[in-house]
Amino acid sequence: MQLFYSDSQNAHAPATFLLKGVPVPSPERPERAERLRDAIRGMGLELRAPATLDTPLLRERLARFHTPRYLTFLETIHSRWRQLPGAAELVAPNVHPCGGGHHYPTHPVGQAGWHLHDMACPIGADSFTGILASAATAQAAAQAVLNGENVAYALCRPPGHHAGPDRAGGFCFLNNSALAATVLREEHERVAIVDVDLHHGNGTQDIFYARGDVWTGSLHADPSEFYPFFWGGADEHGIGQGLGTNVNLPLPLGSGGAEFMTALETLLERLADFDPSAVVVALGLDAHKDDPLAGLTLETEDFTRVGERLGQLSIPVVLVQEGGYPTDSLGHNLAAFLEGFRRSYQMTEGH
Ligand SMILES: [Zn+2]
Repeated sequence: MQLFYSDSQNAHAPATFLLKGVPVPSPERPERAERLRDAIRGMGLELRAPATLDTPLLRERLARFHTPRYLTFLETIHSRWRQLPGAAELVAPNVHPCGGGHHYPTHPVGQAGWHLHDMACPIGADSFTGILASAATAQAAAQAVLNGENVAYALCRPPGHHAGPDRAGGFCFLNNSALAATVLREEHERVAIVDVDLHHGNGTQDIFYARGDVWTGSLHADPSEFYPFFWGGADEHGIGQGLGTNVNLPLPLGSGGAEFMTALETLLERLADFDPSAVVVALGLDAHKDDPLAGLTLETEDFTRVGERLGQLSIPVVLVQEGGYPTDSLGHNLAAFLEGFRRSYQMTEGH
């Protein structure tokens, strides 16, 4: 297993975000990556830096599922925002095209409202550097698998699964799991994304909703009562060529390891019907009972079971870090998952 991380990701470090109308310290801060990195090193594993961070190929791959105007927005909005008289240091929207807009604005405030879906995606002066480094990390892991590695892990921060084709949301800007799947698709006809984050992977779902070549499945706290609220229902099956290749299994708030494992089993039965030749795991760790985002109640040992079960996939796997926020348990949860996964994963070298 090769593991990847770039400390250039730390260039994205907004201090606050708005929660229930109140600016609060952001849990999506560099400390997350430090805790995850330390846990990996504590297992005696090495993290390697992606060979490249910003290349025409990375941008071209991102443009296969993000819109050109969104990519331009992410790169240019902060400097344009700061030229507005009285603008705050962090880009944050104060207007949204609720119900869907018809007219794409040129003004930075209008564009911020168009592309930043909620108040949990503030953009600072150096954010784009960090966001792109996170994507480059996912790309490196997927490329390692294409190059013959059976399993690779990408320590991506910021996370990505709430980012859709044309928008950011929930601390996510570029969809790292979608990027990993996009890279795998270059050699695999059918690729799947299994999302075990606490939250529904709405951005990933949106990106592949009408496609039949990338299966998306997500286990998450019921969006009727939990972020992202507007997606993640069990009746969202995909459309057109993608009909039947999107599976959502919402869990009642407060569900624990037993319910999670039962749902994971169901999700993997549906995955087997699709018969992918490579899988991306959108590896959120925020379903733990101590996570500050507080939706499910998994114990650290449950992540070992999740890892063991996913390790039975026995096809090439890219593990992409999604959520999981700073607590004393965070690093233990990653180590528990990786130990379970490595113990059960068996595959012929060179595949
Ligand atoms: Zn999450």
